[in-house]
Amino acid sequence: MSKRDYYEVLGISREATHDEIKKAYRKLARQYHPDANKDDQNASEKFKEVSEAYSVLSDPEKRDSYDRFGHAATDGQFNGFGGFGTDFGGGGINDIFDMFFGGGGGRQRRGPEQGADLRVDVELTFAEAAFGLEKDIKVPRTEECGTCGGSGAAPGTSKKNCDQCRGSGQIQYAQSTPFGRIVQTRTCDRCHGTGTIIEKPCSTCRGAGRVRRTRSIKVKIPAGVDNGARLRLASEGEPGSRGGPRGDLIVFIHVQPHSVFKRDGNHVVVEADINIAQAAMGDDITVPTIDGEAKLHVPEGTQSGTILRMRGKGIPDVRGYGRGDQFVQVRVLTPTRLTDKQKELLQEFAIIEGQKAQGEDKGFFKKVRDAFMG
Ligand SMILES: [Zn+2]
Ligand SMILES: [Zn+2]
Repeated sequence: MSKRDYYEVLGISREATHDEIKKAYRKLARQYHPDANKDDQNASEKFKEVSEAYSVLSDPEKRDSYDRFGHAATDGQFNGFGGFGTDFGGGGINDIFDMFFGGGGGRQRRGPEQGADLRVDVELTFAEAAFGLEKDIKVPRTEECGTCGGSGAAPGTSKKNCDQCRGSGQIQYAQSTPFGRIVQTRTCDRCHGTGTIIEKPCSTCRGAGRVRRTRSIKVKIPAGVDNGARLRLASEGEPGSRGGPRGDLIVFIHVQPHSVFKRDGNHVVVEADINIAQAAMGDDITVPTIDGEAKLHVPEGTQSGTILRMRGKGIPDVRGYGRGDQFVQVRVLTPTRLTDKQKELLQEFAIIEGQKAQGEDKGFFKKVRDAFMG
């Protein structure tokens, strides 16, 4: 029987990546799976063909060998892979079981695994975010049990090998499938895949070897962080399993709004009220900045709503690229309860405005200003 090329079977190029191989296989396996094609003998053959192709191409060593020797490599002449009738080798059939039965079908995951990332939320004031600080944050996380040193066995006792799986953590069993009996592997249920049994569990952690503990971790929050920023602290998350490294700790930054300052990226926006005399004649006013009070020159003839810029008075850039600016939105307040003196002066102003003959009278404006500045 002449065999089809494995790449052709999966409909992929010879340069296909591992992911492409997997994708092609999953699609075809779903299409031809015997459960979905009960009366179609042809589908069952196709399924077998697809699975075989995948079991070779998904394994770098077997793929390499196949690339060099073709199907001869699978015929046992080159330390090939044995027959496919009863033993699929590789991960082919296990992947099928994962796909159709929701995982756990004997997938071997015995290597070290990194622990999960932890999330912690930190609330900062406007000023803390602007200038940064070192903050102690409380992180509940899993730590090695101090009583048993992480073994889970009561002090003075030790673990012993699981007798059900003889320490391997895996149980092999045969299963009948449409293509004959195949050998499956599942995780030992007595030792949960660890290969060891604790006879006398540690009383502190009840045999888990780990305890939940709230730890205080110092976090350096850089100046200029904004609302929604995330800081990643490597290896401060949950511990890994089987000797894997810890996950990361991810700090989510929340910045409280400020009653005076509004933030727009690295810029700060504030409002400043001035009276009509200051608007008309200009003045140096005092405005709040994040560094404290500062002088701002309001030019003469400033309209309400005008935005004045104070360079470098904004928020420090979180990556260290200088500082943003402060924008001051000027609001000209129209007086409401006028004194007699103010009324008199404004009437005089109205008359001059009406005549439009004498141009601007500085002396008059000086009097108006004095009246409003009190
Ligand atoms: Zn313990
Ligand atoms: Zn076991």
